Amino acid sequence: MLQTVDVDIAPLSEYAALMSPERLAALEDLAAALRGLRVAHVSATPYGGGVSELLRSVVPLYRGLGLHAVWHVIPGDERFFAVTKGFHNALQGAPYQLTAAARETYLMYNTHNAQLMEGDYDAVFIHDPQPLALRAFVEGGGAVWIWRCHIDTSEPNAAVLEFLTPFAESYDAVVFTLESFIPRAWRHLPVTAMPPGIDPLSPKNMPLPPEVAQRIVRWLGVDPHRPILTQVSRFDPWKDPLGVIGVYRAVRERVPGLQLALLGSMALDDPEGWDLYHTIVDECRGDPDIHVATNITGVSNIEVNAFQSCSDVVIQKSIREGFGLVVSETLWKGTPVVAGNTGGIPLQMPPGTGGFLVDDPAEYERRIHDLLTDRDLARDLAERGQRHVQEHFLVTRLVEDELRLLHRLVAGHTTAQHPA
Ligand code: UDP
Repeated sequence: MLQTVDVDIAPLSEYAALMSPERLAALEDLAAALRGLRVAHVSATPYGGGVSELLRSVVPLYRGLGLHAVWHVIPGDERFFAVTKGFHNALQGAPYQLTAAARETYLMYNTHNAQLMEGDYDAVFIHDPQPLALRAFVEGGGAVWIWRCHIDTSEPNAAVLEFLTPFAESYDAVVFTLESFIPRAWRHLPVTAMPPGIDPLSPKNMPLPPEVAQRIVRWLGVDPHRPILTQVSRFDPWKDPLGVIGVYRAVRERVPGLQLALLGSMALDDPEGWDLYHTIVDECRGDPDIHVATNITGVSNIEVNAFQSCSDVVIQKSIREGFGLVVSETLWKGTPVVAGNTGGIPLQMPPGTGGFLVDDPAEYERRIHDLLTDRDLARDLAERGQRHVQEHFLVTRLVEDELRLLHRLVAGHTTAQHPA
């Protein structure tokens, strides 16, 4: 059997105060129509990165809404995840040589994992490329299958896209974060777009009393009474952590006492992370005001929450980005962001909202300096960012979008519904 991740049952009533009456009613109506539906979400890792963050909140809400929802994780080892990380990078436009050995590894693991998939479902969501081919190897069943792609596939490597095309074609729906991420060669598929959202009640995003947040920041060696610049990201070249260090050094010349916190999680399906982590640690040696911390050294949701809450500015120096949940997480806490103008980030930060979108290193320095020295500007932008997140990027909006899609697919399908 595939591993099942234990999750909560989250009643919608807990979110009601954060939703408009119209959205609340719409979600309740959809849930009533889908009550008892058996839904599986399948992903590659139970922790580290945006997909696991999302599922940890989405699945409990489905359950709170009366659907039978489970979250399964596929097994894999370094060999498999080295291939799938290569696919991930290639789909985001990195140079990549697709070899016969990589195809074989990918297919072998997917064939094996398909055999582990037990249980009867009415709908199956497969997340990202790692388990995409499962659908082709799972026999029987009357489920609708949805592939949820979380990465920016607007300029993909042609060979990898072509290899994955028959698998994508086997789905009843293919969901991207943005319309612009849909590869031209896949326009014939049943595609749709919906951005993700954050859970305002999770340990990562719930309100923390300021003294608690400061204590946690201190616990990780950072002085909450001096300015803090933070990036929270997997150690991934697309997030440019070395570039962040360069920006920090330049800003610090003008803002003495500035500290940099780099919080990075090591995901099971991201074998590149350790190499980059060691490079970063070497690069920071000798500067006691750069703090590098990971889930291995005690950074979990509450610590991320504390840093996103206590930082003066959060930087997200993404070169390519799917959505960038960290941006909404930070804005939700009323902290301004300076971020790469790429992928789903501009959606979260329209002009005059949340902070600044940036294209080059000199602009990062200038904008971070502006926010560190003009506190009124920082507060106004952050407040607008917080309102924008509440309106557009909470998990309740995502669940509404997903249930609407399920409703459409299941209505056109022969699957019987099951009473709760
Ligand atoms: N994250 C975390 N600890 C870390 C680094 C990242 O919990 O040390 C979380 C972060 O808070 C966010 C997710 O991992 O919820 C990253 O999602 P995002 O969409 O920003 O990027 P992805 O990793 O999916 O590319």
